[in-house]
This record gives sequence, structure tokens and C-alpha cells, in this order.
Amino acid sequence: MTTISPLIAGNWKMNGLSQSLEELTELAQLLTTGEAPRAVVVVCPPATLLSAVAAQGASSGIMAGGQDCHTEASGAHTGDISAYMLADAGAQFVILGHSERRASHRETDDLVRAKAEAAMGAGLKPIICVGETEEERDAGRAEAVVAGQLAGSIPDAASQHEVIVAYEPVWAIGTGRTPSNDDIAKMHASIRQALVERFGEEKGNSIRILYGGSMKPLNAREILAIDNVNGGLVGGASLLAKDFYTIISAV
Ligand code: PGA
Repeated sequence: MTTISPLIAGNWKMNGLSQSLEELTELAQLLTTGEAPRAVVVVCPPATLLSAVAAQGASSGIMAGGQDCHTEASGAHTGDISAYMLADAGAQFVILGHSERRASHRETDDLVRAKAEAAMGAGLKPIICVGETEEERDAGRAEAVVAGQLAGSIPDAASQHEVIVAYEPVWAIGTGRTPSNDDIAKMHASIRQALVERFGEEKGNSIRILYGGSMKPLNAREILAIDNVNGGLVGGASLLAKDFYTIISAV
């Protein structure tokens, strides 16, 4: 079994003005003065702060990521941002298919897959989000829904590139609720199985599967210890340096 180095990514969503960089400076200080982190650390700020995060990261090891990208490299797409632009601003990762984008921008699996292809083309590592709604879980369809999203959102070309999967139950995002450890273990095992079936043992076992949805300093250690949980995608708790550092240290 391949050993996977864990990754903790902070998703700032539409939060953060230039003054939020003070939190980033504090995080960088904690990371460089404390014990060396056992996880790859990624911060995905709004695009306006990407260059600043990338610059800060150069000395502290924090890597920068975008939160979305267009399928095209450039062109007449007012308000959009391309994967090449994210890379140009210093990003190495990009979150794609987050449930907030699937819901409020009606992003489909096909679109997410096309965006992931564009991201890989620009040299970025896509963090592809999947996850069921509460109704889907209550109806006993959580695993089937996630399997469908995985099949539709991950490009075949992922076999040649680094991709990351983030399992984020929609009902756990920003709610303070999380699935039981057993349910997380079951879902991550089923995602692992799908990845191995599609990409083969070696590749399938090398893809990180992050858990996301109300990961906090108090529950991080427990969740990060579950089989096939190779890190976390952290929203709210990534906005405060101390909380995010506690989660990183829980790896
Ligand atoms: P949360 O968000 O940690 O605030 O629940 C996670 C996410 O949406 O990525």
C-alpha cells in the first residue's frame, strides 16, 4: 500500500481582505517556529489575495490554491479566471466542483471535469469536491451519489496527473455537524475502491482523499486518524491562524 503524505487545505471562500494576511503571517510564524508540519499545507484565498499568499508561502512552505477556474485558458469570459492565471499568480492547486459552486452556479460533473482538465493543463493540481446532500443520505443514496460524481468529475487524464479528491457531505459544510467516524470511514473506503477500480492499484491508492465539512480543532485528530482520510479541506476553521494550525498539527 502506497503511503500518502497528508494534505490540509484551507478554503477561505469569499472571505478575506488584505488585512487577513495578518492571519497568514501568524500561520507562517507558527509553521516555521513550531514542530515541522507533517502535512502539506495549502491556503486557497479569494483570487485577489492569491499572489500575496504565494509570496508568503515562499518562505513558510504554505502553498497557494485557487477556488475555481474556467475551462478556457483566456478569452471573452467577463468575471472569470483561468487556470493559467491562477498558476501565473503562484497557485499550485485549485478547488473544483465545491458544493457551493455546484449549487449556486449550477456546476455539473461535466463542467467540473472540463475545469479539472484545464487545471491539469496549466500545471495545477485539482482538488475535486464530491458529497451528498442530507436528503440523499437519508434516502440511503450517499455512496451512489458520490460514485456518480467521482465518475463524472474526474477526467481520465487524472491517470497522468496529480489530483486530489475531497469528500464533503453538503449537510456538514458550515453546520458544525459531521458524519460519524464509521460513516466517514465507509465513504472514504468506497471512494478508494472506485479510484482503484478506475485507475488501477498503484494510482488509485496514491490519490489523496480529503475529508471536508465542519472540521475543527476539536474533531480534527479523530477524523484525520480514520483509514483513507488523507487530510482535510477546512472552511471556517482555516480563517483563524491558531485554529488552522491546530488542525494541521493534528495530522
Ligand atoms: P467548513 O467548510 O469547514 O466551514 O464546514 C468546508 C468547505 O466548504 O470546504
